[in-house]
Amino acid sequence: MNHIKYYSFPETPGAALAGLLNRKTEAMAVAGGTLAAKTLPETVENFVDLKNLPLGYVKKRGGDLVIGATATFDAIDNSKLAKRWAGGVISAAAARCSSQLIRNMATIGGNIARPHSFNIFPAVLLGLDAKVRVLTKTGVKTIPFSALYQPEFRFRPGRDSLILEIIIPGKTRNWACRFEKFAKTEASWEAYLTLFMGIWMKAGVVKELRVAVGALSPRPFRAESAERVLSGAKLAPVSIDAAVLELGRDLDAARAGEFKKEVAVSLFKRFIKERV
Ligand SMILES: Cc1cc2nc3c(=O)[nH]c(=O)nc-3n(C[C@H](O)[C@H](O)[C@H](O)COP(=O)(O)OP(=O)(O)OC[C@H]3O[C@@H](n4cnc5c(N)ncnc54)[C@H](O)[C@@H]3O)c2cc1C
Repeated sequence: MNHIKYYSFPETPGAALAGLLNRKTEAMAVAGGTLAAKTLPETVENFVDLKNLPLGYVKKRGGDLVIGATATFDAIDNSKLAKRWAGGVISAAAARCSSQLIRNMATIGGNIARPHSFNIFPAVLLGLDAKVRVLTKTGVKTIPFSALYQPEFRFRPGRDSLILEIIIPGKTRNWACRFEKFAKTEASWEAYLTLFMGIWMKAGVVKELRVAVGALSPRPFRAESAERVLSGAKLAPVSIDAAVLELGRDLDAARAGEFKKEVAVSLFKRFIKERV
């Protein structure tokens, strides 16, 4: 960190973005600092600290749940609103991040700014059809979370743009969901597999199903073939078996390997069978 020459604490997102876009020095945003401090490029001379931005909230807006980018894992874990949303899956996922020390510092914005295999929130936000509000030099853009890591999104959050907040759509409020992190120990960051599963049923029929898989690659993916098999179907042994088969194929396509495939399939079966 010896090459850091400038350090600022802007109080508005606009001022923070201006600090990042300042052409005189190479700048980078820092929120909790838990990842930035470990992965700081040597060319960066200017830290733009986000801690004074008014983005630490978890609140409802319209029918949606909105989480500010600087909300910490601890704040999300303990938010009453998050605990009541989608069966508490967002809080439960936050609680699975490493140790209390890290949860006190690490923010959701820092967790999703760049793709990383072991980050918890990308799989959860992909599964919940979340949107992300990003401040860029051309204004505020609201994009689906799934677009954040696509090449078409030409910005580099933390370098030339800022994540402001994450919007979890109201339709997911009553979904039954589960987040599973399969790792050597509770506190281990390097999970073998993370899995988000969410389902919404009406009159015994599956209306929405999400299976989002993390930790196999920097970007999480949805097991869309498995989702398709059960969408619009009743949960019966035949349809469940067909979905399990498709999940296996989705995982093979992602080169999960036998062990992780077996783990994912049994976690999925357990989740689905609890709904029958
Ligand atoms: C010991 C240890 C254990 C860990 N365990 C886990 C774990 O179990 N699960 C897990 O998911 N992660 C884990 N992490 C990784 C890290 O703590 C998380 O990814 C955390 O959420 C990063 O957030 P931060 O606020 O500390 O980000 P920072 O380190 O401050 O920043 C990380 C990156 O995000 C960018 N950034 C930050 N905020 C914004 C924003 N609002 N807009 C745009 N860009 C932004 C920064 O420029 C930087 O590139 C662990 C880290 C350590 C050191």
